[in-house]
Amino acid sequence: MLSRVLVANRGEIALRVIRACHELGIETVAVYSEADRNAPYLRLADEAICIGPPDCGQSYLNIPRIISAAEITNVDAIHPGYGFLAENAGFAEICRDCGIGFVGPGIEAMRLLGDKVEARKIAHKAKVPIVPGSEGVITNEAEAMKLANQIGYPVIIKAVAGGGGRGMRVVHNDVSLRAAFNAAKSEAEAAFGDGSVYLEKYIVEPRHVEVQVVADHEGNTLHFYERDCSIQRRHQKMIEESPCPVLQDRDRQRLCEAALRVIKEAKYVNAGTVEFLLDKDNKFYFIEVNARIQVEHPVSEMVTGHDLIKMQLQIAGGEPLKLRQKDIIQQGVALECRINAEDPANNFSPCPGTIAEYRAPGGFGVRVDTHTCQGWTVAPNYDSMIAKVIVHQKTRAEAIATMRRALEEFTIAPIKTTIPACLAILSHNLFVKGKVDTGFVERNF
Ligand code: ADP
Repeated sequence: MLSRVLVANRGEIALRVIRACHELGIETVAVYSEADRNAPYLRLADEAICIGPPDCGQSYLNIPRIISAAEITNVDAIHPGYGFLAENAGFAEICRDCGIGFVGPGIEAMRLLGDKVEARKIAHKAKVPIVPGSEGVITNEAEAMKLANQIGYPVIIKAVAGGGGRGMRVVHNDVSLRAAFNAAKSEAEAAFGDGSVYLEKYIVEPRHVEVQVVADHEGNTLHFYERDCSIQRRHQKMIEESPCPVLQDRDRQRLCEAALRVIKEAKYVNAGTVEFLLDKDNKFYFIEVNARIQVEHPVSEMVTGHDLIKMQLQIAGGEPLKLRQKDIIQQGVALECRINAEDPANNFSPCPGTIAEYRAPGGFGVRVDTHTCQGWTVAPNYDSMIAKVIVHQKTRAEAIATMRRALEEFTIAPIKTTIPACLAILSHNLFVKGKVDTGFVERNF
């Protein structure tokens, strides 16, 4: 069992992890950059250490500083949250070498799944359908063109080390392939320090459906059903829900079992997400594994009633899973809206600044995960997500009504947020009917 954990992250997820630790009787150490020195959640941690200036490279991404903080404060493990160092196998390896636990998967599995081409191979081995595409990395345009013609346009060129929707290019014909291939490569190089790309068939108007999984050190694996994350802008999720409104029970079962086969094949431990695309005939194709806790984990917590962060900490402490699959029941409908400090009226440009007026929603079925409050200054240095509103109700119609009511109550001023954009989506008749795909936002707004 862990007794003291350092949280190597900031914002809502740092607070989320601190809360889970305290409920388990685990002491917490928070780290912060100078930009976050006044963050109220730091007071909730047992100790808080400044690790550097606002720039991520000198603070939240600075491995030597985080390891020093962990050593000085004598923690037995680090929880990386999501983003920053969460999927950095090199960081997990340094933790191990320093005798510090890492709340996440093993180094081998992280390394394998961090490479999307390797991840595709694992899924294929586990007899899980993958999107038709290249077997390995594509090294030149000629190779890309040959394959694109074999599988048929449209195709998508993707970064092997990709994440956050970057380094991706959709191509419709030979003419645009060359430019797209080079653009994807340089974007991948700039974003991930690795310009390797691969190619997949571009699935037309798919839904994004993913399965939450958890595995312990003894090989026990569980799934916590699926989340539908089709409401995306530029391949980044905006609204997530569970269950997926178009899946029938039999298909849901097959999807969740496929996800478990992938993580078993990868010898995965701790919480993770297996992502799929669902085509118009409800056929699913594996795309990748996210080897960490995800932003949208609360929707799975609400429909199943299980705390995934606590489970992560217990597994990292060496405890086997006590739950059985039959104990995990998907009940009702949960929705999550990501509230970003961005201006929807101005092409979603970031809107840092001080929040002078702040009133969070509450009431039946509403959960708000945030680190912000009145007087909080949103720094320009970090991701623009400042809050998540999660609702849980018996039916999807009730969940939508509760979410609309909650977002209408939510006051954040004078900075601009994505609340009006979320409200517009929630009111759209196709969203209400559940008839959406990953292109819905771009087509309709
Ligand atoms: P990242 O790791 O950057 O998030 P993913 O592989 O998870 O990249 O893909 C992110 C999103 O991009 C998906 O949810 C989907 O909207 C779109 N996408 C990815 N691959 C395909 C594909 N083969 N066909 C259609 N859309 C795709």
